[in-house]
Amino acid sequence: MIGTELTKTQELISMEDKFGAHNYHPLPVVLEKGEGIYLWDVEGEKYFDFLSAYSAVNQGHCHPKIINALIEQAKTLTLTSRAFYNDALGPYEKYITEYFGYDKVLPMNSGAEADETALKLCRRWAYDKKGIEDNKAKIIVCEGNFHGRTITIISMSTDPDSFKGFGPYTPGFEVVPYNDLAALEKALEDPNVAGFLVEPIQGEAGVYVPEDGYLKKAYELCKAKNVLFIADEVQTGIARTGKLLACDHEDVRPDVLILGKALSGGVFPVSAVLADDDIMLVIKPGEHGSTFGGNPVACKVAMAALEVVKEEKLAERAEKLGQIFRDELRKIDNEMISLVRGKGLLNAIVIKPKDGKEAWDVCVRMKENGLLAKPTHQHIIRFAPPLVITEEQIHEAVAIIKKSIDEISNA
Ligand code: PLP
Repeated sequence: MIGTELTKTQELISMEDKFGAHNYHPLPVVLEKGEGIYLWDVEGEKYFDFLSAYSAVNQGHCHPKIINALIEQAKTLTLTSRAFYNDALGPYEKYITEYFGYDKVLPMNSGAEADETALKLCRRWAYDKKGIEDNKAKIIVCEGNFHGRTITIISMSTDPDSFKGFGPYTPGFEVVPYNDLAALEKALEDPNVAGFLVEPIQGEAGVYVPEDGYLKKAYELCKAKNVLFIADEVQTGIARTGKLLACDHEDVRPDVLILGKALSGGVFPVSAVLADDDIMLVIKPGEHGSTFGGNPVACKVAMAALEVVKEEKLAERAEKLGQIFRDELRKIDNEMISLVRGKGLLNAIVIKPKDGKEAWDVCVRMKENGLLAKPTHQHIIRFAPPLVITEEQIHEAVAIIKKSIDEISNA
């Protein structure tokens, strides 16, 4: 019937709405294709991707080298579990440990699983190596943290959207304000503290960049108390902030490094925990694992994804283009932008609502103008394009951002 027919977009959105759990609130766009920094929707519209699947697609959508690795391995062997050895895991473990400079890796799938792994590793190290009494180990975390969605991880969250209504919570965590060395120093006085888990930049919280020197000093404070410095680089790692790791900006080498997302270039869920023998070997056979962790497809995909980062100098690109992007954003003269912040190509603007118009409205308008980004915490818009973006494309994107904010504030 004319007038009541649904577009393909409406049809697919209502299908998700009817049959899928309502645990996300996406922008009203249905995507069907990606290439490099671009996405296309089911109506054939083309967009700049300025989210990169929350920094999982740093290497760009459907990178040919990574996709090729996926296809070739998928045709040969996909999964054997860890009950047996496979011919891709050893070479991958050698490659990734040399790449990041650690003795050992423990492969997992999602970021949350890798965080859980690091927490278990830290607790076991506390009992076996540091000599903390059984069940007494504490891990310090930061206000505003985001490490995933498991029960234990939300137990350390300070965001009610994450934890409210999901208790009882896992004990053993102490929260200190982010970017507050005095608070950390005080919390470290407790001899039962085994680890400090920190995001070098808080991504989900809204791209909060700590003061220069924070990570270095925090690391030193941890060392002085024989406490493990555990960096969650799931979002900040793999060249996103202008260095291979965000901790590299301050020459900090975490005792335990957590990676995910772009470790696979967004092709497959691959995560990892890296540490030296003294820490990693406290976990013995049968004490931790995952059916899919370390599967041959993941190994080949991750190696290809890491090779692309080096071959295409993605860290250097992120550093240079990030500076240009922030400079251009700061030139936009609009009262709705109250702040621009970030590092490399992990950036955000803070939106001051105007006449009831908020960050969500700006994102919907940017979508209509050909650029996809998503608000975090109502008033912040994160901008994190694939790192293969060019300078010219950065300028085109900034023009869309400016046009959209101007349209919304004049509406
Ligand atoms: N840690 C950080 C810093 C993250 O940003 C995220 C996801 O956004 C996670 C962990 C969780 O990763 P995943 O969604 O793959 O479980």
